[in-house]
Order: sequence, then structure tokens, then C-alpha cells
Amino acid sequence: MTRIINEIDKKIFLEEKCFIPTMGALHKGHLSLVKLGKQSTNGKTIVSIFVNKRQFNDESDYDNYPIDLDKDIELLRKEEVDYIFVPDENYIYPKDFVELDGMESGEKGSLFEGAHRPGHFDGVLTVVNRLFELVNPTSAVFGKKDAQQLYLVKEFFANKSNNLKIIEAEIIRDKYGLAMSSRNRLLSKSGINIARNIFQILKNTKEHFFQNQDIQQAEAFGKELFNENDIEYDYLNFVDPKYFETPDKNHEKLLLITAAYVEGIRLIDNMEVIQ
Ligand code: AMP
Repeated sequence: MTRIINEIDKKIFLEEKCFIPTMGALHKGHLSLVKLGKQSTNGKTIVSIFVNKRQFNDESDYDNYPIDLDKDIELLRKEEVDYIFVPDENYIYPKDFVELDGMESGEKGSLFEGAHRPGHFDGVLTVVNRLFELVNPTSAVFGKKDAQQLYLVKEFFANKSNNLKIIEAEIIRDKYGLAMSSRNRLLSKSGINIARNIFQILKNTKEHFFQNQDIQQAEAFGKELFNENDIEYDYLNFVDPKYFETPDKNHEKLLLITAAYVEGIRLIDNMEVIQ
């Protein structure tokens, strides 16, 4: 039986549980996290739905963020999660929660995605910290789709005193490669078709790198592909996923990350580059 809760009582706080934080408008990507969470725990599963204003640097992005609570509940009931946690803004950020209680993501939160969305990762870490405090999970699932977020969450919360296990979920895409996202709902049919090019651009950029072994050239090539497709972008970069930095010659792995705009909607995606 799935229970919808607005607050965490003592009994739930103490239970062993896997936590899947979301902002709702659920899709197959979210549901894959739920499935992974269920498989990985002997305890309960709890999914939160909370659109965290603090992580939006753009007010209209927040105002337009899709909400579909009834459908979300239906989907989560089908997955047989134990708790759907739908907190109020005041429960997460009570009056005595002052700015000083916010977390700072530091230098790693100011690069790439953070450079284009100032304060975004401070907001993300603040809400994740607050949710962890309230929910007290044994493990939590995050998607690789938000690669820099996952990196920072691991940096700040994994294997710290609370022994919390962070589980990583693969990116779920539609059959044309478009990474599932709540924001895809804001796109028209033709917008969806345009957005599908992002996956192809990542693939072709990666291919270019394989052929030339030159990061800068491959990035320039990929940016040209964005231009040719008339897609605006914020960045297209190879990073060293171990440090989430521009790779130096000692890097072991590479991750190709991007943020682009289709019909004014900001979409992010990434692709692992296995050498
Ligand atoms: P959101 O509701 O966008 O905040 O996402 C909640 C969680 O779902 C985050 O850990 C995301 O990384 C993850 N997620 C979102 N979209 C996908 C996707 N297409 N594939 C895998 N995980 C995803």
C-alpha cells in the first residue's frame, strides 16, 4: 500500500529506506530510479515530489515548471512505492531556516552548468541536505542525466558520517535518443524532433574525438553542429568525471556534457566517452 505523506513522523524516520528525490512531472527516467531503488533495498522506498524554488536561477523557468501530481501518484502507486512524500514549502524551509543554513557548492558548483545557472547547485545541495535530514534514508538514487549534480551529491553526502549509499541510475532516453526530462513536456512535437538532435550531436562529437584525439577540436566540431542545426547552446565540454574539471593529460575517463535550448526550453544531456 502506497501512502501519501506531507511530513515525516518518527516511525518513518527510523525505518530503513531508499529515497528517490524528484521534482515531479514523472517520466520513465524517474521510474527507472524507483525500480532501481526498490531492487536495491530490503527496506521501504520513499519518493519525494518537491519543486525546489531555491535551485531555479530563472523565475520564469520556475513558474513554467510542469506539475502533474495526480498522474505522478498514479505512476508511483503502480510501482508500489511505500511513501510518496509531498512536502510543503514551509516544511522544507521553515521560517527559522535562514539563508545561512543554505549550502555552498563551491568551485565545482560554479563550473559548466553552475557557470550558466549561478546559485543553482547551492540550491540543489541545500534541498538535498534538508531532505536527507528529514527523511533519514539508508540509500538514495540519483540519475546520471544530471551528471554534475550527481558528482556534487556524491562529494558532499556519500560515505560521510551517516553512511548513506548513493546509487547511480543510467540515463533513460526515448527511442531516438532524447534524454527523458520533465521539461520535454513543454516542447511542441517539432520541438521534440529538434531536441532529438542533441543526442546525435553528442554522438558525432564523441566520434570526432575518437578519430582525432583532440578535445578542443572535437568541442569546436560539436559546437558547429549545434550551429548548423540552429540550436542555441550554453556549453559543450569534455570533462574529467573524476574531478568534474577540464581534463588534463592524466585523465582516465571523459564525459561529454551539454546544455542547449529548444523553443526556449533549457535541456541538458551528457554521454560517457569510453576510450
Ligand atoms: P528531477 O525531477 O528532474 O529533479 O529529477 C529527479 C531525479 O531523476 C534526478 O536524480 C535526475 O537525475 C533523475 N532523472 C531525470 N531524468 C532522467 C533520465 N532521463 N534518466 C535517468 N535519470 C533521470
